[in-house]
Amino acid sequence: MQLGSLVTSEELRRRLSAAFGGDRFPNAALLEGGAAGGRRELALLLARAALCTGDGERPCGQCPHCVKALAGSHPDLRVEGGDGAARSFHVDVVRSVRDDAFIRPNEAARKVFVLLEAQAMSEQAQNALLKVLEEPPPNVLFLLTVPSASMLLPTVRSRAQLFRLDGEEPCGADPELLSRLAAALCAPGEAELLFLTAPLIKDRAALRASLQGLALLLRDACVLRAGASGCLSGLPEDAARLSRALTRESLMRLLAVTQEALAACERNANAALLVTALCARLRAAAGR
Ligand SMILES: [Zn+2]
Repeated sequence: MQLGSLVTSEELRRRLSAAFGGDRFPNAALLEGGAAGGRRELALLLARAALCTGDGERPCGQCPHCVKALAGSHPDLRVEGGDGAARSFHVDVVRSVRDDAFIRPNEAARKVFVLLEAQAMSEQAQNALLKVLEEPPPNVLFLLTVPSASMLLPTVRSRAQLFRLDGEEPCGADPELLSRLAAALCAPGEAELLFLTAPLIKDRAALRASLQGLALLLRDACVLRAGASGCLSGLPEDAARLSRALTRESLMRLLAVTQEALAACERNANAALLVTALCARLRAAAGR
């Protein structure tokens, strides 16, 4: 499955690929945790994967379904909500989604409904949704995003496969450290990188969070370098600085190095060796 740099946790990548990488899909999935922007982007990516008819990894980004979904004009993809304000997700919208779910798909193999920030549904709206989740029509996929699954009725929660994005966002990472790491990557020499990362050797949780934060920041910089926008790291100025200072190739290499270090961290690799190797590899990847 083509998850790009959106998901950095190996475990979550594996679970998402198992659920969305084949031809069978869950009826409903709940994406919780992380930042609202990250949840939304992941939900839309999974929606495209469910509509895609490409031969290789999905979403391919090139088949007619991917193209229409990216343009926001796929007749079998409906996106609702996202305002986030309490009770802004109106029961009438949910009822209309429910009715729509019973109409056969127009072009794709299934219909996909992305319901953003579902915690904004009133109890009445959630109960309206529950009716269709309990006895889902064939070939329908519901993708719900929510800050925490605990904000939904237990009956709704229990009908959806849960994917937790916590730790996928740099909220666990120290933003000041990320900012200084970004500056160190743009500067010559390795001393500052070694100095900044040394305290992480003794704190595996902080190391993991910092690597996740750095991966998001580098992803943002790559996106900016490609002329697009969409900040997931919450550090737009640092992403802009990286995108100005480094080439696209360097940024891609840095991202790959960071993701490999994160995978090693999750395999419980020796932290001292990991951090030392990381600094040398980041330096080489930055090409400074
Ligand atoms: Zn496709």
